[in-house]
Parts: sequence; structure tokens; C-alpha cells
Amino acid sequence: MTAANPLYRIDGLPPFDRITASDVEPGIRTLIAETRAELERLEADPAARWDALVGQLDEMGRTLWTAWSAVRHLTAVMNTPELRAAHEAVQEEIVEVGLRIGQSRPIYDALVALQTSPEWGALDATQRRIVELRVLQAELNGVGLDGEARARFNAIAAELNRLATEFSNHLLDATRAWERVITEASEIAGLTADERGMLAASYQQAYPDAAGGDADTGPWRVTLDFPPLRAVLDHAHSRELRETVFKTFSSRASSGELDNTPFVGRILALRKEQAALLGFRNWAELAMESKMADVESASSLMQTLLDTSYPRARGEIDALREFAAAEGLRGELLPWDYRYYRDRLRERQFGFSSEELRPYFPLPRVLAGLFGVVERLFGVTIEPADGDAPVWHPDVRFFRILEDGAPIAAFYLDPYSRPETKRGGAWMDECLDRRRVQGELQLPVAHAVCNGTPPVGDRPSLMAFDEVETLFHEFGHALQHMLTRIERPSVAGIQGVEWDAVELASQFMENWCYHRPTVRGMTAHVDTGEPLPDELFDKLVAARTFFSGSDFIRQLRFGLLDMALHTTFDPDRDDLLALQREVSARTTVIAPWEGDRMLCAFAHIFAGGYSAGYYSYKWAEVLSADAFAAFEEAGLDDDAKVAAVGRRFRETVLGLGGSRHPVEVYRAFRGRDATPDALLRHNALAG
Ligand code: ZN
Repeated sequence: MTAANPLYRIDGLPPFDRITASDVEPGIRTLIAETRAELERLEADPAARWDALVGQLDEMGRTLWTAWSAVRHLTAVMNTPELRAAHEAVQEEIVEVGLRIGQSRPIYDALVALQTSPEWGALDATQRRIVELRVLQAELNGVGLDGEARARFNAIAAELNRLATEFSNHLLDATRAWERVITEASEIAGLTADERGMLAASYQQAYPDAAGGDADTGPWRVTLDFPPLRAVLDHAHSRELRETVFKTFSSRASSGELDNTPFVGRILALRKEQAALLGFRNWAELAMESKMADVESASSLMQTLLDTSYPRARGEIDALREFAAAEGLRGELLPWDYRYYRDRLRERQFGFSSEELRPYFPLPRVLAGLFGVVERLFGVTIEPADGDAPVWHPDVRFFRILEDGAPIAAFYLDPYSRPETKRGGAWMDECLDRRRVQGELQLPVAHAVCNGTPPVGDRPSLMAFDEVETLFHEFGHALQHMLTRIERPSVAGIQGVEWDAVELASQFMENWCYHRPTVRGMTAHVDTGEPLPDELFDKLVAARTFFSGSDFIRQLRFGLLDMALHTTFDPDRDDLLALQREVSARTTVIAPWEGDRMLCAFAHIFAGGYSAGYYSYKWAEVLSADAFAAFEEAGLDDDAKVAAVGRRFRETVLGLGGSRHPVEVYRAFRGRDATPDALLRHNALAG
């Protein structure tokens, strides 16, 4: 039976066209059982030797992870209720087996023994890094603890897990609990036709039996989900509606049955206790053991960026106040006026809509432009290979990457939105990793998934500019996976790359969307074939830095608050709101509304992986901007020089991936550490 299961021991590319929901449970469970048996064999006699220990660990569960990647992928791009149920049925067992490997005490002891064995000196840098990462990860998971300390550590971990789920459930329920049905068209004046249509459809969906749901006659339903929220805050002329929506949104999950306030305090206290059990002074120190930055460098970067962007933000808001007054705003510019007037000012200054850009960006042309950049920079070629790999949907493309004529990697591109079956957003996922399988080199294969505008009739997909940027972004992740030189999967490509450095390759690629020759090369008006006119390109570039100071301080407010909560804040003694006010006083120009309870909705740090890590957004932007500056310094229009820097990027950031500490990788590329200068310059914040 197992032999016929397409998930069982996949050799090469997964048979995406043959995997069905009913294969998932039997296939994955068999592979889990095999992996557990491998683990038990190794645990029974873990020799402190590279081949016998780490070699085995690298190989352990290989066919399980390949099969699981295929299932996870199909669940995201070709979902059905059956597939979702099958995925859910085995997910916990998958997590459990992964944890058992990572937290195995006998294996941990052997890894530690290997570090002091005679063999250690003979291992290369990549091998040592693999051992060090495994030891560190196990220690951060409490493996080194004994007796009561270990029991307490595990109890805290379990409670933190539960609290994270409850926190996000509260948030979700509180977000869903509110709606406002509008019947007077005047109340939503200012919204675009598309937005009115969205609100009318939302009404129809919530009240299928009621009449109405027409874009122009209503009724319309406003909720706190992001698209309607943005529509109202950006466009609604009604100040009263904006105020209501803003206040409800900013105070959600902060009172009544869905109050997250007690969770915030409890989570912070438990994290502090857990950190103490492992010998750290606070949670941030623990969390940053496995980051590129440390508490000091992250904090000092945020302070530097704040010092530079704050005056600029103040200037932006002063100008906005003036503009709003001229537009007839009575009284002070309040938080619910900010996005509305900013949007109108943007229209006034740049006067182009994203719809105007679309016809210049047909997907085939954009792809040719993207592949051209990759070829120029990294000396590899990309060729379509449709038909060489089974796919899950007819829209999916398959490509190969070649170097000196030989294939080195491949990727699937699933470009269009399919709301019924495909998750929203865009992402890169690993399908196969680069490694030796029985002596043979397995080439890396990536999934690049977008949710772009589908083609209509015989016209190609016409991409919005942010869809183009997203494609470049995800392709940057894919390149790091595919162009790795490492054959040891746990540190090849994006594996083993510290959390705060992983957006370097992706954001780096986005910069090319603002490079004039590149953009000219990847645009061709769908009717006339004309490249994007210079005048539109210039507006695009100018719009990129519009209100950049205000955007910076907003991110820095979150980052500094997150860091303070996980370092100096004492959950037993200090007042959460007082801290929030103190940080806001330094990081806002428009005084926040006093009912703002953003901590109760700060899911990034209380229910996601960003605790003491929110700074990562800015940290990675510094890296990617500084990396792009290396190309600017060489001369962006000098092909030979761009190629030389590109090859260095390919051999360091992309080629080494997680096989070295990111500080070392970055220095190998740049010859020095990154500075924020380029980021500030690109955002018109320098000097
Ligand atoms: Zn990314």
C-alpha cells in the first residue's frame, strides 16, 4: 500500500498532479514512524563523531520533510476541505517529531562532546556552524536543564503556547465582533467605486437573505479587516466615521470578555522567568542569542534611525497640518485624520494612480526583466522548462536555472490569485534542498508563489507595481535557496540564516524596481509596446519616499516599545500604559489618542515570532540598502562592474547562506559592516 502512495519516499520532484487528500494521513504517518525509528536508533547509541552523528541528523526524516513540504504547499495553493482536514490531522505529530529531534538529550550530549573531541579541530567552518546551531537551539529549548528547572521550563513553554493562541483568538474575535452597516451613500462619500463594491459585497455576504449589496445603492458594511479599514481611513470624507472606525480598531481586544491586557502582563512575566532559568538577564538577551544583532546593536540602530527620521517626520506633519487646514479641516489634525489627508496630499503631489501603471507591466515582460537582472548580476541563465515537472494547476510555470550550460536549480512560479483555493499574500517555499543523496547531488527547487492579477481574455496579466515589487522580493528569497553553494541542508540557502538577516536577499532585489534602465527593460505598454515614460518613472521614485519620515517613526515606535518590554520593563512592578506613553512621546508627532491600546493587538510580539525582534524589519532594510549601495558605488550603469559586485553577492550572501554567521557573510560581501547611510539616503532622510 505504501509503495503506491505518491507521498511515500518521494525521489526527485514531488508528483503534484497525483497527490490527493486521502494520501496525506497514511503517507505522512508512515514517514513519521520511520523518522521516529531513525531517531530512536540514533539516541540508543549516539557517537560523538561527525559522520555517525551529524551526518545521521542531516539525513533523518529527509523523505518526511520533502513529503510534508509538498502537502503544506498544496494546502496553501490548492486547498480543499478534505486536504485541510488531512493536513490538520497530522500537523501536531509533525511538530512533535521535529521537537523531539531538536530537544533530544542524548543527541545534545553527543553534540557537546563532539565539540571537545579530537575530531572537532578537523571539521570545516560549515560543519562547526551546524553543530553550534544545533547545540544553541537545543539549549534555548531548555535541553541543558535538569530536574525541577526543566519541569518548570517546560510548564512555562506550554503556558506561553496556550497564551499566544488565546491572545490571537481574542484579537480575531474582537476584530470580527464589530461592524457598521451604512445605508446612506453620503456617509461613505469619498470611497472609490471598488471600495464601495467591496463594502456592498461584505454586506451581502454577512446578510445573504437581505436585499441590497449593490455598490452604488448599498447597504454597505464596514468592518475592522484591513481592506475596509484602509478604505475608510484613507478615503472617507466623514470625519465621524473615520473617528469611530479608528477608535474601535485602536482599542480592540482591550476590554470585556476579549480583553488581552491580562495576557500581556502574564506573557511578559513568563518570558522573563524562562530567560532567568537559562541564565539570561531578560527575554531580549535570550531571543537575540539566535539573531544577527544583539540588544545593544539593535537598540542603537533604532535610536540612530529615530534621531534622523524624527525631524523629517515633524516637517511632514507640519506640512500636512497646513494642507489639511487649507482643505477645510476644523481644529487639530487628529490621529483619524492622518491617513485621509496624507492620501489627498499624495494625490495632489504625484497625481498618478496605480491603475495607470498596470498596462506597462505585462507579466511576461516583467519576468523577462527580472530574469535579465538575475543573469546580469549572478551569471546564471533562466530557461522555461514547462512540461518537465508535474504541476498542481495549469497556470503554474516551471523554470530551470543554468550555470555554464548545466542545470543548478529549478523553480515553480504560481503567479495568479485564485481566491477559492489559494491562500492570500506571496511567499517562497522550499520544495527540494541542495544535498547529497546517496552520493548524487540533489539540486535545489523553490516555489515562488504570488497572488497577482490574472490575465483577462487574451491579454496577459497586467501587474500592479506593488505586485512587481512583491515578485522581485519573493524571487530574492528563492535565489538564496537556489544559488546556494552549500550541500548540507541545515545551513544551505535560507536554512540557518538568522531571523533578522533573512530579508536581506529579498529586499535587495526590490531595489531593482527603482532602477531606470531595469524598469525600461521590463515595461512594454500592452497596446503600444512603449516602455514606462520617464515622467511616470520619476513620479514612482518620488512617491517611494513620500512621508518616509512618518513611516520610519511608526515602525520605530513598535520596535522600541517591543525592546523596552523585553529588557528594562518589570512586569511585576511597572505600568504597561505608562511605558507605552513614554515610548510614544519620543516617537510620535501627532499625539496618540488616549484610548489607544495597541499592546492588546500587538500580535507580532505576543502571538507571533517577533518578540524582541520587531527591530528586524529595519535591521534587514539597513542590510539590503547597504548591499545595493555596493552596486551604486560601482556604478549602476557599468555592466562589467555591476557583474563583478553581483558575483561577489552571489558567492557570499546567496552562496554561503546560513553556513556562516551573518556578520561574517556580510563582511565577506562588503568588506565591512553595514551602515544605515544608504537606507537613509534611499528614503530621502540623509543629512
Ligand atoms: Zn520576505
